[in-house]
Formats: sequence, C-alpha cells, structure tokens
Amino acid sequence: VPYAIHIKKPTDLIATTTLSDQIDRKPDPFWDAFLANRYFEVIDNPIMYAKPNTESFEINGITVTLSLFSPNNVYKASDLKNRMLKMMEAQKKFLGDVDSTKEYNILLYLSDVNKPDAHGFGALEHHTSTVVVLPEAMDIGRLEQAMVDVVSHEFFHIVTPLSVHSKEIQYFDFNDPKMSQHLWMYEGTTEYFANLFQVQQGLISEEDFYERMLGKITNSKFYDDSMSFTEMSKNILEQPYEPNYANVYEKGALINMCLDIILREKSNGEKSMLWLLKELSKKYGTDVPFEDEVLFGEIVQMTYPEVDTFFKEHVIGDTPIDYDVYFSKVGLATKDVEEPTGYFFDGQVPYMDVDVQNDSVVFIRENIELNSFFDDLKLQGGDIFKVINGEEINLESLRPIIGESFSWTPETVVSMTVERDGELVSVEGKVGQPVKKVKKIVPLENVDQKIIDLRKAWLKD
Ligand SMILES: [Zn+2]
Repeated sequence: VPYAIHIKKPTDLIATTTLSDQIDRKPDPFWDAFLANRYFEVIDNPIMYAKPNTESFEINGITVTLSLFSPNNVYKASDLKNRMLKMMEAQKKFLGDVDSTKEYNILLYLSDVNKPDAHGFGALEHHTSTVVVLPEAMDIGRLEQAMVDVVSHEFFHIVTPLSVHSKEIQYFDFNDPKMSQHLWMYEGTTEYFANLFQVQQGLISEEDFYERMLGKITNSKFYDDSMSFTEMSKNILEQPYEPNYANVYEKGALINMCLDIILREKSNGEKSMLWLLKELSKKYGTDVPFEDEVLFGEIVQMTYPEVDTFFKEHVIGDTPIDYDVYFSKVGLATKDVEEPTGYFFDGQVPYMDVDVQNDSVVFIRENIELNSFFDDLKLQGGDIFKVINGEEINLESLRPIIGESFSWTPETVVSMTVERDGELVSVEGKVGQPVKKVKKIVPLENVDQKIIDLRKAWLKD
C-alpha cells in the first residue's frame, strides 16, 4: 500500500530526507508532500526539518547530503563536510563493489545539554540514511572523530543487517519482537569494520588501531565474559542478558577480529571477514533473509574447520577468548610496557585526591595503578600525606611542592611522612624518573616474514 505523507511546516524550515517527493502537485511553501511505496519506506526514510544548514558531495556515484541542526548555531554543515567526505571515500574504497546505494543522507541533530533536549547520544541506521544525535558542546576535534566513528558504523550496517540478515529481521514484528542469535555479526562485524577500514585506509595508524582493540578487550571485561553470545543475542530483551547488550560493540567486534585473523591465516592472507560478508551478501541480500539456525553451518562450509571450532567455543559456547592466541598469529602480543609520566600527575589526572569534607586531608588514590615514584618509595593507595620535605601538607601547601616537582631530577631526594591505617609511616629516597605501566599491543621481534606478511594483509589490504 503506497503512502502519501503531507507535512505542514514553517516556511523557514527545510526537510532533508531520502523519501521521494515525486507527488504530482503544485509546489507549496507551507506544505511538503512525500511518497512512500510501502509502509517499510516510511520507517526507513527519516525526515529532519531544520533551518537550512546542509552540504552535499559526490563519492564514486553516491550523493551524500549532510544536514545539521545546531540549536545555538555553533556548527555549520560545512565545518564537517571535508572530514566526512574523506571518511566516506575511504569507506567506499574499503567496501569496493558491495554497496549499491546512490543516495545517502546524514541527519545530524546536535543537542543542547543545558536545556531539556535529547540526551540519548548515538545513531540509528537506515538503508539510505542515518540519524545521529550528539552534544552540541563537543569541540570540533571530538565532534569530527565521533562523526567518523558513528557514521562509518551506521554506514557499514548497509552490509549487515540491512543486506545480510535472518528472517527475524526481515519480518520484524515491532509488537512482539523475535530476536536473532546473530548480534555478533549485525553489530560486531559492523563495529569491527568501522575500525578496520580506518587503519586499512590510513585514517588512523596501526598503533591507534591496536589501542582501540585493547580498549575493547578492557571494556569487554566489564560484561559477562562467560556468556554465550548467541544465547545473549536471542534473549537480549530479557534478564540477565539485556545489561550485556553493549558488549556487542566490544567483544562483538573482537570476535570478528579473531575470525578475520583465522581467515587470513588459513587462506595465506587472501580471505577475510569482508570477503565473507561479500560472499554472504551475494547469496542473501536486502530481500533474501537466511534461516537463523543455518548461518554458522553455511559459513563453516565456505571457510575452515577452525572457524567452526571458534564459533562452538567462543560464540555459541561460553569460553572466554584468549586474544593473545590470535595476536600471535599476526606477530603481535599484549605486553606491559613502561611509559613516562609525572610525579604527582599522569597527564591531567592526579595520583592523589582530597577529602571532600576536609581539604587538609590529601591522600593517594586507591584502586589505581601507581607510578614508579610512589611504588619505589613503598607508598600505597589510601596513604594520607602528612609531611613532605619538612612541610606539613594540606591542599594549599601541596601545590607549591607539585610545582617544584617539575624541576626535580632523578637524583632529587624527597622525604615523606604519611598516615596509613592510623599509623605514621616515614619514607625517604630518590624521586627517580617516574614511569607508569600500561598494557599495549606490540609487534613481536624475530618473527617469520610469513607472519609479518599476514599482518600486512590483515591491516593494509
Ligand atoms: Zn550498530
């Protein structure tokens, strides 16, 4: 059943939408009219009304329109145009021939967090557009990076689930939702691609990419790492699965990273998750859903027994993934490395804190990794500073000491008395060169050229 949608509007607002306005009628400044061929087109083509703030650009045959609402006129669409252009060009290059849309709209709603305005930040994908909500208060650097990460994620949803998806999605019942077991792919593959294309296309460095993957490993541990991903997906609207949902963006992406490495390894660098998704989208597609139960079997048939084992252990099964096993296949490992830091501050973040009730109580923060300065002096989280270099310590008197510390050399000697569990403890020693331990994914030395080539195929293909 076709739908005609008529919208009465103030004359200073314009509509941005991929919905067709091919309705045979005279133009009217007070009324817009749109045509949808069926109900699905109504929900798949959002419309944003805003004061004109729009930029369009062409990328290999796609017309991209960026329309922006900025309540306090902080941003113009032109501020973001170049970065979006570069990013989507890279995405098209990464995807190659998989995508066929001719038109893509980015509808960006910036919200004023100081007013009753949108607070749920994020985005939603559609076949030919995405709606993004972000705070207007972000500075341009963070806004650009957020747009790159968010819009690329949403755009990759064109591959899955918009193209490759199961019957649960094709015939989605909004009143009585039946969930698919394949969130590892719908969200996981998408989020993985949104990071992988950035390193493959040179938008971020390999180190940046490793840091992002490590961040996902760290974040994934805040969720239940021993929960079957398929069981979680199937029951994602219920307890105890629902609070683990956001892990689809963390462990979900990592599952795909491991599978990608397995495919590269077994095919001498030739096959990848992108290859697999392209194959699946040839077989299925926008109008041809797969059976939820048979997808794993089909993927295994197209690939290798190791993929079957991985699915059974870590996606269907509940065994946590030892990521170093997969990193080692491409000559990488997670390692503790030392990085320079400050005596009292790690960048902007202090190693100490002040009692909110009483600012003469300054103590070393608990439950954080301390730097070598505190470690070497055998100081601990929770220790309250009493005296430093003969000076009684409160918030005021600590400031000049922190100031002086910037001119300390490793040979400088410091003496401190702290209160620990009601007892006074005095320490004295050289301040040394302060370093902190950080986990990093680093290339292993003395590995075979074959392994280095595999890593290249993975990140530079
Ligand atoms: Zn998503």
